[in-house]
Amino acid sequence: METHHLAGFYDAIVVGGGLVGSAVAYGIAREGARVLVIDEGDDAFGASVGNFGLVWVQGKGIGQPAYTAWTRESAALWPSFADALRDETGVDTQLLQPGGFDLCFSDDELEEREKQLLQLSNEAGGDYAFEVLSHADLKARIPQIGESVAGATYTPMDGHVNPLKLLLGLRRCLANRNAHLVNSERVARIDSQPGGFVVHGQRGRWSSARVVLAAGLGNKDLAPMVGLQAPVVPIRGQVLISERVATFLRFPTATVRQTAEGTVQLGDSLEDVGFDKGVTTDVLSEIAMRGVKAFPLLRDVRLVRAWSALRVMTPDGFPIYQESAICPGAFSVSCHSGVTLAPVHALRLARWITCDCVVPSIQAFSADRFRNPYESFSHVD
Ligand SMILES: Cc1cc2nc3c(=O)[nH]c(=O)nc-3n(C[C@H](O)[C@H](O)[C@H](O)COP(=O)(O)OP(=O)(O)OC[C@H]3O[C@@H](n4cnc5c(N)ncnc54)[C@H](O)[C@@H]3O)c2cc1C
Repeated sequence: METHHLAGFYDAIVVGGGLVGSAVAYGIAREGARVLVIDEGDDAFGASVGNFGLVWVQGKGIGQPAYTAWTRESAALWPSFADALRDETGVDTQLLQPGGFDLCFSDDELEEREKQLLQLSNEAGGDYAFEVLSHADLKARIPQIGESVAGATYTPMDGHVNPLKLLLGLRRCLANRNAHLVNSERVARIDSQPGGFVVHGQRGRWSSARVVLAAGLGNKDLAPMVGLQAPVVPIRGQVLISERVATFLRFPTATVRQTAEGTVQLGDSLEDVGFDKGVTTDVLSEIAMRGVKAFPLLRDVRLVRAWSALRVMTPDGFPIYQESAICPGAFSVSCHSGVTLAPVHALRLARWITCDCVVPSIQAFSADRFRNPYESFSHVD
């Protein structure tokens, strides 16, 4: 097999060109390093193009303050990150961060949510702004709310973007910075050798000083090639989208949001069905009914599309960031919430990868926290 040096030896090869790989690769390119992104392409499982678009902090990191802090840092970086993407590429990610609501349909649910946010606040030393709203309080903020919504929790830290524009912006940034992209290429083998790595695809092989595994669910098979473990499983989420309607919802909620174009996105299920990317009428009708309960005006709105995508879930739901002890220079990056975390992936994690810059608490994200990475797990009751 021929060795392809598209432009010589790379400083870093990133395997996976979804939101996570593209954000990390963009960050590496910003450091002035020579980057190659290799992506399998069309047969991808595609969480990056099938997600809900939330930049979400609320409720994240219970029992893991490092993750709460990481998520909050990312949300705080989002405005300048969005500006940088727009300035570099002209792509507007449609970021809005007015705060977000998590709607509850019973008093018990609301009480449980409040307890969780109190725990997060305690873990953050009290520095965690949130509100618990009764139905009446909520109606004062969102007049279209349905009668069967018992109340909601709110944090000012939440927001949403257009995730497709985010991916487009990242890809354009990569092109502007002369990063190379090999599409429709599945990485099948990675060899560690003195001074770096040789990454083997079906059509060629490429060499680099560092290799970053950001292949979503593909990381599970790739990680052991460089002495790492990435115990990730697919958890399916089904999503519905409506026709455009006049603006009625200026805040994102965890399950309903109105996009900048006026469409309403309704989501999203949590299903442990392996790699099945189908949609099912029972789950979609449940999602639609919950949406109508939340916002009765949706009863008369036409749904125009449904899809599903596979989340990349670790056993505890927190990210895995780790450099290989056996093959230094090889890193694994696996996470749910790749939209929310795009800024820290580009601006913090990439520097940790390229110049050993310290990321506080990075050790908390090592896969070594899983005593048995081969143990099976699920996120669905
Ligand atoms: C329904 C749903 C809703 C979500 N909502 C949100 C949200 O509101 N906010 C949020 O922050 N996050 C959300 N997420 C999560 C977010 O979408 C993911 O964290 C993110 O997209 C993961 O990106 P990724 O690049 O790791 O994975 P992917 O998008 O799966 O991309 C991985 C890429 O790697 C490639 N690849 C795999 N194996 C190989 C190989 N061997 N060789 C070469 N390439 C390979 C694939 O082709 C693919 O392109 C949601 C996800 C889902 C499914």
